[in-house]
Amino acid sequence: MNKVNPNYALMPGSYLFAEVSRRVSAFQAAHPEKKILKLGIGDVTRPLPKVCIEALHKATDEMADPATFQGYPPAQGYDFLINAIKEYEYDARGAKVEADEIFISDGAKSDTANIQELFSGDAVVAVPDPVYPVYVDSNAMSGRAGIYENERWSKLVYLPCVAENGFMPEPPKEKVDLIYLCFPNNPTGAMLTRDQLKVWVDYARENGCLLLYDAAYRQYITREDAPRSIYEIEGAREVAVEFCSFSKTAGFTGVRCSWTVVPKSLKVQDAAGNPVSLNDMWSRRQSTKYNGTAYIIQRAAAAIYTPEGQKQVRENVGYYMENAKIIRETLVELGVEASGGVDAPYIWLKCPKGMDSWSFFDYLLSGAGVVGTPGAGFGPSGEGYFRLTAFGSREVTLEATQRIRELLGK
Ligand code: PLP
Repeated sequence: MNKVNPNYALMPGSYLFAEVSRRVSAFQAAHPEKKILKLGIGDVTRPLPKVCIEALHKATDEMADPATFQGYPPAQGYDFLINAIKEYEYDARGAKVEADEIFISDGAKSDTANIQELFSGDAVVAVPDPVYPVYVDSNAMSGRAGIYENERWSKLVYLPCVAENGFMPEPPKEKVDLIYLCFPNNPTGAMLTRDQLKVWVDYARENGCLLLYDAAYRQYITREDAPRSIYEIEGAREVAVEFCSFSKTAGFTGVRCSWTVVPKSLKVQDAAGNPVSLNDMWSRRQSTKYNGTAYIIQRAAAAIYTPEGQKQVRENVGYYMENAKIIRETLVELGVEASGGVDAPYIWLKCPKGMDSWSFFDYLLSGAGVVGTPGAGFGPSGEGYFRLTAFGSREVTLEATQRIRELLGK
């Protein structure tokens, strides 16, 4: 009999969204006449920008012609996309990133989950709490998280993001090797300033650790003093990997395209303490285990890097951010403690009347027919909080906020 990876047996079930949909189905079955409004899962609802659709059609036609047909894509991605990312996302902001440091992929989820396999099994990992669950689960599957007990993994270092610290994690007191950071943040919607990010870069340099910086929501930043990329911060090229995605920027959640930056100046150590290039390791990993993002998809992604493409992307993001404003202002008006929704499409609220996350979930579902995400599902410090997303349609957002007003305003 084959023996399986024993770490999978330690994993708690995929509790959060499975439990959300179980409760929603049960409610719908009991109240078939009730229209349920979903502001829970972080998926987009707007169609792809027109420029992307046009590029997809054109690239598809190219695949039909032997003269322009494309087979396996280059391992790291097509130059047309890599160069456009370099120019628009980094050069334009004065952030130094070279073309051969950009790796095109099929999603920030896969890359943030896969990066951990480059590090030793005993690397100590710190995660913000609450957090995007992929960082935690991917390390747990590799045995780096220890045992799961009382909602915590025994070997992970949790960095609480709570109201008292403005939902900003503080650098760990103990020695860690890897630190995941996500800004704009899912689930809290928090964003930091350049000065605040500099503290992390300095900390990583002084303490010999590596920052795994997830900037999947960078397009949602509105504040001028907030960094779009960690490479806007001096010294980050020696200590940070950055993950970005077209999913929330251009509605690519169902199309799949992203990129990861691994600077060549980033050195890690082999078992004997010799310096090793993480860029070489990631390149080796990707060329062995990934065969590239489809040509037509990379063409569609590159289409956002024209003045017209940028305009269309801004319109989509602006639509969601108007939803965010509607949700946030409704909650504030009702006297509910709420944050986020300014530089991120998520609003993080303190459950009213002292309710815990799941009690508030049930209260909102049964009282208003509105679905959100219980904060406790993102980590122990999320207990007592709740996430609403701005990714619904305007119609759903307006109706949901009206129902919330009627329920909480009583
Ligand atoms: N990173 C964060 C913080 C996310 O919230 C998400 C998706 O919700 C992702 C990454 C996944 O992005 P992608 O669609 O590119 O895999």
